[in-house]
Amino acid sequence: MVKKPNLVKNQPPNQIDLIACMQCGYCRSVCPVFEETGWESLSPRGKLFVVKNLTTKNSMLERIIGKNLTAKIVRDVDIPLEELRDAIYKCTLCSRCVTKCHVEIPFHEMWEHIRIWMVENGIEPPEKTIGMYDNIANPEFNNPFMEPMEKRDEWYREDYVLPPKADIVYFIGCGTSFYEYQVLLGNMKIFTKAGVNFTTLGKDEICCNAVSMMTGQVENFEELARRNVENIKKRGAKRVVTGCPGCYRSLKKYKKYVKFDFEIIHTMELIAELIKEGKLEFKKPFKDKDQPIIYHDPCELGRISEFEDHGIYDEPRFILKSVPGIDEIIEFPNCRVDSTCCGGGGGMKAVDYDLSAAIALKKVEQAIELGAKTIVSSCPNCKSQMGIAIEAKKKEYKDRGEKFKMKTMDVVEIVAKSI
Ligand code: SF4
Ligand code: SF4
Repeated sequence: MVKKPNLVKNQPPNQIDLIACMQCGYCRSVCPVFEETGWESLSPRGKLFVVKNLTTKNSMLERIIGKNLTAKIVRDVDIPLEELRDAIYKCTLCSRCVTKCHVEIPFHEMWEHIRIWMVENGIEPPEKTIGMYDNIANPEFNNPFMEPMEKRDEWYREDYVLPPKADIVYFIGCGTSFYEYQVLLGNMKIFTKAGVNFTTLGKDEICCNAVSMMTGQVENFEELARRNVENIKKRGAKRVVTGCPGCYRSLKKYKKYVKFDFEIIHTMELIAELIKEGKLEFKKPFKDKDQPIIYHDPCELGRISEFEDHGIYDEPRFILKSVPGIDEIIEFPNCRVDSTCCGGGGGMKAVDYDLSAAIALKKVEQAIELGAKTIVSSCPNCKSQMGIAIEAKKKEYKDRGEKFKMKTMDVVEIVAKSI
């Protein structure tokens, strides 16, 4: 049992939002965690109830009229801190709840704020996320996966001689650097063929620290942000491009801590720009056997980026339509700002792997029903989630003695194969 801090005294940052909730429950209808578990305390409304119960003594109405309306016994229900941690961390931070909330509670920032507040009050985040934070902070790794720093550039250092300074720095991201090498090499090929003056941070790249920020562990965020910014400045870049929506958002947050004047863009924006400028020549059509394709909008690149700045929905679709042989892009019934989550956001894979995989499976089952052969995305995390669910589906079909073919690709891989 964790020792209870004084949460009423150390109020969470979003006090007004907490008491503004009308408990109408509309947000529950779009929450993937609630859909999967059926637990009220894991729904957005339930999470708010748990936090409110532990931190506030009066509702908005009670504050306005200056009277206690609720029976004291209801307000004093003693919710254990373990329940608070479970409620707050079993959340993919997909922000779909924002789209349904009547009183416009800004969940896209609020869930992160509450996690930070919990850590500040001595409530430890789930164990595996602490391990990820420690690995990022450890100078031997500076990444959540405990991969040695020397491996950062291993996929490309022999094939690409990159300049020490360039107009664009390609910030690769940890997942792509160590595991999604097809995406990394795809981007290298695209940029080279289009004549982009680019370089990378090589072994100097360290984690963007999105994982720490989203799990409430922000102690070293500024320090790592400064290191990445310094190294980007040394390369003289005017723009930084990344293919990871997590890095894309995290790098943008650096502005709060460090001054810089380079622009941060996603690879979807750069590749769309290169196609429009006629800098990419397509030569090979995308294979018929892998079609039709379906595009999945990553929450962080679409909806959450839209709440923070602008959502990237049109660029990947424009790029895919430019590839010869692709005549049709199937859409999920819930797409663009209403896209459903792949289950891998918010550190969920580390918090509850099975729950995260079950959410991904729903998405893959939807794609199968719609007749898609390839699920395409523009996020290494979403691609990995889809891959896990496709493998689970393949096993299920095999056990029944049936064949099942489906793959998942990044938009970048499709482009790279066609040029
Ligand atoms: S962010 Fe997503 S997973 Fe979290 S409460 Fe909202 S809808 Fe549910
Ligand atoms: S939709 Fe908004 S007001 Fe209604 S229960 Fe959910 S968080 Fe509360």
